[in-house]
Amino acid sequence: MTTADGSVLGTTQIVDNGPSSTYWDLVILGDGYQAGQMTQYAADAKKICDAIFETPPFTQRQWVMNVHRVDVSSTDSGADDPTACGGSGATARTYFDASFCNNGSRRLLVANATTALAVANAQVPQWNMVLMIVNSTIYGGSGGAVAICSMAPDAEEIALHEMGHTAFALADEYDNYLGCGVDTDRDNHPPTEPSQVNVTTSSNRATIKWRDLIEPSTPVPTMTNPDCTQCDRRPSSVPDGTVGAFEGADYYHCRAFRPEYRCKMFDLGRPFCVVCRRRILDVLPARVPDVVGRHVQAAAGLVVWAGLKPFIGGPYSGGPGWCFNQRPKPGTIVATGSRVDLAIRNGLPPG
Ligand SMILES: [Zn+2]
Repeated sequence: MTTADGSVLGTTQIVDNGPSSTYWDLVILGDGYQAGQMTQYAADAKKICDAIFETPPFTQRQWVMNVHRVDVSSTDSGADDPTACGGSGATARTYFDASFCNNGSRRLLVANATTALAVANAQVPQWNMVLMIVNSTIYGGSGGAVAICSMAPDAEEIALHEMGHTAFALADEYDNYLGCGVDTDRDNHPPTEPSQVNVTTSSNRATIKWRDLIEPSTPVPTMTNPDCTQCDRRPSSVPDGTVGAFEGADYYHCRAFRPEYRCKMFDLGRPFCVVCRRRILDVLPARVPDVVGRHVQAAAGLVVWAGLKPFIGGPYSGGPGWCFNQRPKPGTIVATGSRVDLAIRNGLPPG
C-alpha cells in the first residue's frame, strides 16, 4: 500500500533520440509488478512505447521523443479491485498503490501520483510526461498529473487516450460518465465553456473553436441529440473524418459538442480526430536542434548518397529528416567506420 511495498530498481532509456534538455521525454513507471516480473514489465513497456510511436500524430514527431523505463518492484502483483464497483475485492500491496473503482467507476484506475512524480523527478528530472502501467488485465485507466493504464487487452489504446488528457490537456469527447442508461445527471452540459480545445458548448460556425477546420459544405451543428435523456447512438450522418459539431461530449448527452463523430478521446481503437492531432503537434517540439556528431558506420556509402535532399532513414536518425550539412562534404569518399558529422533537420527536405 506504500513505498514500503517495493523498491525502485533503476532506469533504462529505451528510446534515445537526443538530449533531454530539448527533447520530449516520456517516463514509464510500473505498479504491481513483483521483482520476478521485470522481464514482463519491460515487454509491456515496450509494447506501449511501440504503439505510441506507430500512432498518428506521434508518427510525425518520433524523433523529438525519448522514452525512459523506470523499474519499480512491488510486494504483490496486480492492483486493488474493490467490491463497491463490482470488483473481486482483491487487494495488492504495491509501490504506487494503484486501485480500480474511483468516483464509483471500476474502470477509473488511480494511484499515488505524488509518489509517482517523486520517483520520476529522482530518476529522469527532465521528464515531460509520466505514464504508469499497472500489472492487471482488468480494463482501466485515468489521466491526471500522471497518466495510468492497466494492461487490459486494449492497454495501448488506454495509454494513448490517457496521454491525451495528461500531456495534451484534451477532454473526454464521450457523452456519459458512469455509462449510457446509468447516468441520471448527464442530460445537459452546464453553460460554462470547457477550457479544452476538443469540446465546446458552442455550435456557432462563426465562433466555434475549430471553425478553421470545418468545410463550408458541412452543416453546423452536424448532428444534434433528439433525446437529451439518452446517449445518441445513431450512425454518423456524414463520412468518417468530417469535422463539424456533434452533440454529446465532455460527459453530457446535450449542449456540448465534439469535432468529429468519433475520436480516440471518445472511443478506443479510433484515430485521434484532427483537432486532437493538431493539439498534440502543438505541444510536442516541432523542431529539435540540429543533430551533429552522429557516428555513422557505413560512412562511405552514406556520404555519397546523402547530399542535400535525400531522407536519412533507418539507424541514422530517429525518424524522417534530411541532411543539410555534413563533414566530409557530399560526394567525398571516406572509409567505412570513419566518423561523419551530420546535421539533420526534421520535416520535408526543401524543393
Ligand atoms: Zn478528438
